Amino acid sequence: MVTAANRMICENLGRTDSGELTLAGQPLAALAREYGTPLYLYDEDRIRERCRTYLGAVKSSFGERARVLYASKAACFRRLYEIMREEGMGIDVVSSGEIYTALAAGYPLDNAYFHSNNKTDEDIEYAISSGVGCFVVDNEEELYAINRIAAERGKRQRVLLRITPGIDPHTYAAVATGKVDSKFGSAIETGQAREICALALSLPAISLMGFHCHVGSQVFDSEVYIRAAEVMLNFVKDMYTEYGFLAPELDIGGGFGVRYVEREPEINIPERIAEVAEFMKRHAEKLGIALPAVALEPGRSIVADAGLTLYTVGTVKRITGYKTYVSVDGGMADNPRYALYGSPYTILPVSRENPSETESVSVVGRCCESGDILQENVPLPRDIGRGELLACLTTGAYHYSMSSNYNKLPRPPIVMLSRGEHYLAVRRETLADLLAQDV
Ligand SMILES: *Cc1c(COP(=O)(O)O)cnc(C)c1O
Repeated sequence: MVTAANRMICENLGRTDSGELTLAGQPLAALAREYGTPLYLYDEDRIRERCRTYLGAVKSSFGERARVLYASKAACFRRLYEIMREEGMGIDVVSSGEIYTALAAGYPLDNAYFHSNNKTDEDIEYAISSGVGCFVVDNEEELYAINRIAAERGKRQRVLLRITPGIDPHTYAAVATGKVDSKFGSAIETGQAREICALALSLPAISLMGFHCHVGSQVFDSEVYIRAAEVMLNFVKDMYTEYGFLAPELDIGGGFGVRYVEREPEINIPERIAEVAEFMKRHAEKLGIALPAVALEPGRSIVADAGLTLYTVGTVKRITGYKTYVSVDGGMADNPRYALYGSPYTILPVSRENPSETESVSVVGRCCESGDILQENVPLPRDIGRGELLACLTTGAYHYSMSSNYNKLPRPPIVMLSRGEHYLAVRRETLADLLAQDV
């Protein structure tokens, strides 16, 4: 029998009677034996549950016209887009590669929003000819390019304009994008937001649908969304007053935080959405405008805690009086986030629930790079050794999608767990795959 282990950071984790770690009720050692390590696992039922939670919450708080767009840069592979299609989720895409993957999954691209601060002409042509429903336009140069390419094809392209509301979400600087000096969007403060709105309204092959903002990632404070929504609604009102344009849509971005470690809270999504909705309704009323159809763009909080990565321990190195390194068979090639942002993670031994004696160690990867660290100060059994399995939790977002072949390491496979079964969604790369592009 599987019991929910106490003090787990997500409820889809548990331990068997013998103390072995499980995900979605499935013991991890057997999965490691069948598929090898490193191994990305996803609890498909958890992903579906998160989609339903978001969709239910936005519809009940904002009404039927509200949308949830899965920010697919968090995790992008064909099977995931099939799940998004089945769950009735919209999607954000940021490149021709993501569009191609969504197409391959039979995803209806009419429900796709195309982001990016630098869409090439080729991207724009590909997106328009693939029938991407809406572009989220970052800047004027892009707007001219879309207008030209859409006109050549006799089309009018629907667009939202990405606006920078000037909100610092007090999160990691590297992932904060709502500030005025951000590389993304047009700032209200500098007057560029107003100018791009006027331009969009004047171009014949552009159909302006409204505005977008995204203030950052791993945000726990709902005040951030309320302040951003206030600024954006004021902007909607200003554009109505100035140009007679009342935005039909307002996309307030993604960024809800997830729990990587115990000290981080668990966000109650329906409650948060209800709070923001209540504020937006009141504020729109105060401004005397109809509330636009609201969209949210969660990435991380749809997939992060549905995933974990399994590794096998190799070398354990004790530098007496200094440090202990526990090396695993993956590293920054499958998880660059500690190297990039110093992101916290919970790493647990798979087969030992309560080791009698632990030691604080650095869990490191196998890449030739001193920064190849998965986490510092991890309490692991003092006698941990070669061959033992470790699980790094909450790796469903920005892991596979950020992975590389650094050091010519083949990427791990993705195995989906659903209703007590498991299946391969992405196979492990082979050594031959690593040379597939060499001519
Ligand atoms: C990255 C991103 C998101 C998703 O952010 P999460 O933190 O994964 O929820 C949403 N919208 C835009 C524009 C983004 O760049």
